[in-house]
Amino acid sequence: MVCTKCFDMLHRNKGLAMHGSLRQTFDHHMSTTTLRQSADVGCSICMTLAKHLEPTMRLTEDNPITLRALLQKIPVEPGKRVRFSLEFTLERVFKCTFILTETSTKHPSRSGGSSSTSSDGVLHVAQRWINACRCADAWKEPGKKWYPRRLLDLEELRCTNGNKDRAKVRLVESSDLMREKTMLGSTPVYKHANYRYVTLSHCWGKPREGYTPLTLTDLTMARFMNDGIELEEFPNTFRHALLFAHKLDQVRFL
Ligand SMILES: [Zn+2]
Ligand SMILES: [Zn+2]
Repeated sequence: MVCTKCFDMLHRNKGLAMHGSLRQTFDHHMSTTTLRQSADVGCSICMTLAKHLEPTMRLTEDNPITLRALLQKIPVEPGKRVRFSLEFTLERVFKCTFILTETSTKHPSRSGGSSSTSSDGVLHVAQRWINACRCADAWKEPGKKWYPRRLLDLEELRCTNGNKDRAKVRLVESSDLMREKTMLGSTPVYKHANYRYVTLSHCWGKPREGYTPLTLTDLTMARFMNDGIELEEFPNTFRHALLFAHKLDQVRFL
């Protein structure tokens, strides 16, 4: 996968400093802090750059750097895949070149270059989409929000670092949530007004003999709400959705 910085440079021409017909120059990272962050999220370009820089500079300290990238098309025979050379230069410190091959996929960013949907790359892509999406802006405004009648609260999952297997999620009634408010003069301030929820669209699948999936009934409801539900009780699809959703910024419910 590549980080937002590298992705935006390669796909959106972000940071373009000079533009020729065959070569483009970009401003890349301008501080060791952002370079380190990109390396930490697993950007394969920035991880290499960080490795080159490490002997000369402490990446744990915030130092200004001037990292520039030069992107050039490599002449190839007709019919062959288009290739580019991406050459990074850090003044007087190093030069580092990557060879990139043009991909045929329409959505190169969808998986963040990863084959597993539970990878950090995918999470990063999802988070970037959410941040760029303006439809969700209403969540930032104060006031009552619409919620589905029942939600799964991911708060406990968020608070458990490490042992997710033992963590529980709790069933909540959104009407109960909305009751938690304080009065600011004559204006009600809803405690949970800015907590977002995400939804899972999925196929139920065919019924399997001898297997009853977790079901909400009058009998199970009190337990789901008071004791919570263990992750391992959920079918895989739900479990994966819960584990993914709790890592998203500001998302509290599924
Ligand atoms: Zn990067
Ligand atoms: Zn949108």
